[in-house]
Amino acid sequence: MINDSLKQLSAALAAKQISSVELASLYLGRIATHNARLNAFITVDREKTLAEARSADARRAAGETGAMLGIPIAHKDIFCTDGWRTTCGSKMLSNFVAPYDASIIGKFKQAGMVSLGKTNMDEFAMGSSNETSFFGAVKNPWDENAVPGGSSGGSAAAVAARLAPAATGTDTGGSIRQPASLCGISGLKPTYGICSRYGMIAFASSLDQAGPMAPSAEDCALLMNVMAGFDERDSTSLEREQEDYARDLDKPLSGLKIGLPKEFFAEGLSAEVAQKIDGAIAEYRKLGAQTVEVSLPNMGLSVPVYYVLAPAEASSNLSRFDGVRYGYRTAEYRDLLDMYEKTRAEGFGAEVKRRIMIGTYVLSHGYYDAYYLQAQKIRRLIAADFAAAFKQCDVILGPTAPTPAFNSGEKASDPVAMYLSDIYTIAVNLAGLPGMSIPCGFSASGRPIGLQLIGNLFSEARLLNVAHQYQLQSDWHLRRPTGL
Ligand code: GLN
Repeated sequence: MINDSLKQLSAALAAKQISSVELASLYLGRIATHNARLNAFITVDREKTLAEARSADARRAAGETGAMLGIPIAHKDIFCTDGWRTTCGSKMLSNFVAPYDASIIGKFKQAGMVSLGKTNMDEFAMGSSNETSFFGAVKNPWDENAVPGGSSGGSAAAVAARLAPAATGTDTGGSIRQPASLCGISGLKPTYGICSRYGMIAFASSLDQAGPMAPSAEDCALLMNVMAGFDERDSTSLEREQEDYARDLDKPLSGLKIGLPKEFFAEGLSAEVAQKIDGAIAEYRKLGAQTVEVSLPNMGLSVPVYYVLAPAEASSNLSRFDGVRYGYRTAEYRDLLDMYEKTRAEGFGAEVKRRIMIGTYVLSHGYYDAYYLQAQKIRRLIAADFAAAFKQCDVILGPTAPTPAFNSGEKASDPVAMYLSDIYTIAVNLAGLPGMSIPCGFSASGRPIGLQLIGNLFSEARLLNVAHQYQLQSDWHLRRPTGL
């Protein structure tokens, strides 16, 4: 049962082959056995989880039949969850118990999904390896010497190790897709504005987007049906008609035009990854798709642009952590200013401080025009590149990350090398587009490799269709790490 898809779990619950309490206990048992080693969860609360499961069972007994009713899910610790500690991977919030639910948490509860706990993450979602968490690094279940990717590394590791059937993540520059790729699972970053950001602790508000992480595209579609939708409490939430994200899963791919951006297959891409991507392209041709070369000429500027804009927004968003209203406060201080300084010096880790300093710098008088404004202009050009490419193709295909999972510690002291892990994912956030990563093979050393699919605005159902058709032909998404 631990390897069942969400659809299978849903059927088992509906047929009363298992109760939600039994299912939740099964996963809680696996967390108890394996989490000490993997460190995928920051907070687990058996009693709270079982209470939610009992309530799901009661709702079913009373006649409710929702597709996700009673299915357990793990949540990235960036989502405020009423009554649960919500840390964002930081010492700054290590004692913070959220007094309310983020919108998407509320939606999952309404659907009757049961929270298994809060997953580990890079501090304030800044990182690509899950090594910046105040609560320690997460291990990749495929190889404990490898990082799981970041910042949603705890969610990716939990799903890959089957400590949870599915999880939530957030993606500002690649944090759903890159860890999905490194852990051999599927993950979708929706179009900006599709999933509410209310109650999701802000990193870079114009880029942050929540999305599903699960073994398969089909699972992701079912989760999207719960988490997507307009929310008046988020001013950037889009008011659109409710969609069924699973509606196109079974559509054949004949006639599909896949764009291959030449910039994705250039220098910097590991030969092993390139080979697996080529294999997937061959599979898509067999499924009736055609390929066309496209170009994203400004792609090379996406990492530098992101590292101006994301820190600028972060420096502003993180100013609220001052020790006054909630979270960590330094023990001893002379006066208010001293309290602010010590609280922030002690509460934030090195990567977060680096971003705050970069962000404050690029927003300051004299540098604003030179950096921030220029970056905004290039962001626009990057979006225009994608718009031009989508005149020639339906979806864009390429690698998710330039390499399979790297070793723990390998890039920890070289921020620029770490930033380049997101070279293929960041442009998608800058353009506000949906992007997805699905497993497409393994390296010679047995580490997963992911393939990225990028769609035009609001094309989630199409992306999920393209991913699902590949998953009907391949079994990469069904492989499991050994010994777990
Ligand atoms: N790795 C990128 C960063 O550190 C992206 C993180 C994210 O998507 N949250 O900013």
